[in-house]
Amino acid sequence: MVNHLWKNSTNVKGELDALVYRSNLLGFDRSVCNYGGGNTSVKTKELDFNGKEVDVIWVKGSGADLADAQQKHFTALRMQDITLLKERETMSDEQMVNYLTNCKMDHSHPRFSIETLLHAFLPFKHVDHTHPDSIISICCADNGEEVATELFGDRYVWVPYIRPGFDLSKMIWEKVAANRNAEFVLMEKHGLVTWGESAKECYDQTIAVIQKAEIFLERETSSHPFGDVVVNSISDDERNEMLQAILPVVRGCVKENKRNLIVTHDESEEVLDFVNRERAPLLSQIGAACLITLSIQRGHHCLSNGILQQKRCRN
Ligand SMILES: [Zn+2]
Repeated sequence: MVNHLWKNSTNVKGELDALVYRSNLLGFDRSVCNYGGGNTSVKTKELDFNGKEVDVIWVKGSGADLADAQQKHFTALRMQDITLLKERETMSDEQMVNYLTNCKMDHSHPRFSIETLLHAFLPFKHVDHTHPDSIISICCADNGEEVATELFGDRYVWVPYIRPGFDLSKMIWEKVAANRNAEFVLMEKHGLVTWGESAKECYDQTIAVIQKAEIFLERETSSHPFGDVVVNSISDDERNEMLQAILPVVRGCVKENKRNLIVTHDESEEVLDFVNRERAPLLSQIGAACLITLSIQRGHHCLSNGILQQKRCRN
């Protein structure tokens, strides 16, 4: 279960500091956000180059990891210019990036996230966008929207999968504006968007939604997601003997492909448990969790956290 880690005693000075603290807490737990994925933001007022106070959004820079993000990993952009984009029908990635580059408060700030407009269009001070395992379990299911409605009623907005960029950001803004009860967004095959008037309120909401989804999944999936154990692990000695026989063959295959690869092996308890189970041959070949579709059914298999964490889109 994802833990609520916020400590009121933490010495946080100012909005940007609070954004960094919140981001680090979210990134600390990889079942909340994968490495390099997700992004956070806060809207503040800053002085521009002329000493004039302007509305600004601070958003995580592209490629930074939430877990160890510092102030220098966030980019400030002028809201007045960004708000004008709401009038546009569509925009290519290239047009969007060029436009937003001109909105930067300081050209030394890092390149902004491709999901910047998702944050900027929403009329809330603090916004979190994460890729939580439990939420993606629901958002990747072919009956995900049905499950979400049963779980959250009309407190959420569902958006179908489209690539991150202008169109997705505009769709999220319009759908949220159309639902007065909306408290968060579930993005099909992608993740979660939450918000709050304070950094803590935003964090509270992210964790609360994830925990509710986790409790639901635990309750509704009684059988093991990887199936029954169908083979038993061999002894350490036998395994080492087998590795010595197999690894030179693997090395030969890699060499034939003329690719520079480093091969490692993992015989941790979790891996052995996975490979011994009935569904391992199928699940190990499925690939990115974002691209697969499974049903969540009462008492039946559901995609579990272990697989989801392996491969995830980083936006
Ligand atoms: Zn994302």
